Amino acid sequence: MTVLVLGGAGYIGSHAVDMLLSKGYDVAVVDNLVTGHRAAVPAQARFYEGDVRDRGLMERVFTSEKKIEGLMHFCAYSLVGESMEKPAMYFDNNVGGCISILEAMEEFGVKHIVFSSTAATFGIPESSPISEKTPQKPINPYGESKLIMEKMMKWQSEATEMTYVALRYFNVAGAANDGHIGEAHKNETHLIPIILQVAQGKRENITIYGDDYQTSDGTCIRDYIDMEDLIDAHIKALEYLKAGGKSDQFNLGSSHGYSNLEVLDTARQVTGKEIPSVMGLRRPGDPDELVADSTKAKEVLGWQVQHDLTHIIENAWRWHSSHPDLYEK
Ligand code: NAD
Ligand code: UDP
Repeated sequence: MTVLVLGGAGYIGSHAVDMLLSKGYDVAVVDNLVTGHRAAVPAQARFYEGDVRDRGLMERVFTSEKKIEGLMHFCAYSLVGESMEKPAMYFDNNVGGCISILEAMEEFGVKHIVFSSTAATFGIPESSPISEKTPQKPINPYGESKLIMEKMMKWQSEATEMTYVALRYFNVAGAANDGHIGEAHKNETHLIPIILQVAQGKRENITIYGDDYQTSDGTCIRDYIDMEDLIDAHIKALEYLKAGGKSDQFNLGSSHGYSNLEVLDTARQVTGKEIPSVMGLRRPGDPDELVADSTKAKEVLGWQVQHDLTHIIENAWRWHSSHPDLYEK
């Protein structure tokens, strides 16, 4: 039986493909490489280059792959700032892609899908940590598009035999344990890879966006989830659905928050580099603190976080220092 990984050439999707293969699953990938890398997908996975909104392509994939037991869906545009400038493009790709996928699943009788949602569906939460009961009030088109996708899945699951799990990731970071794949976004905006680029000497310094937040040291607090822990949750979610589990949503984080300065300190310890920093202004739309309450994922999926921030940065550093040009060479 095959797991079809949509967006399997991207940062998170490529780690899912890698871990599924290592656990003996048969894997096929669809990706249009808009932000992904062909080199991130191992030869053991069958690769279809194209857009999930292309109904003809989806029909060809579902026809060729005769034994799809479930989908993992990672395709999306996912930059908050870009989504504020180009909302229509975000709804077209994220929501449009989801429609095409749900239609193909229905047409070909594929029953299970695990998909990437995000803490951005919560907007600026009134309290922390954030549980599945916290109201979802996105404050940007990216978060809104993911909330719409969650709702589409819910209605589709009520109308058909399909079941889904929406996994709302908090801050994903890290890389494969041996550093052979890792994060390689062309326009990098995330804190940890930018800090490591400074450690590599690719940037002069890291600007920390604001130290006047309502937190212990004034910088924002985020909850970092290790890549291996994250993919483990996807595999557990897929197995849960295959075993007859009902459609559900889970918040995925380590349930532990780190301030931006604590992240920087940990990176200095791991890399042994100075990593110069400057204090900048707030980045618009950043909530003071985003920490997950992942109790439900533990109880229902039997999922347990194994790795802390030091492990995350160690793996990320292994990837960055062994691949100075990322996937370019
Ligand atoms: P990414 O950009 O590296 O991966 C997305 C992949 O999907 C890329 O390979 C891209 O080429 C592909 N893709 C996009 N649109 C497509 C389309 N229409 N057809 C076919 N392929 C398409 O991003 P990522 O960081 O790996 O994120 C994966 C998912 O996780 C996204 O849905 C994102 O919203 C979600 N997410 C990420 C984070 C994070 O911290 N990285 C946090 C929360 C949620
Ligand atoms: N951040 C920062 N400098 C950077 C990039 C990010 O200070 O160059 C901060 C950002 O303001 C936030 C935290 O790091 O407080 C995490 O940001 P990231 O973009 O990695 O993830 P987000 O929480 O926005 O999904």
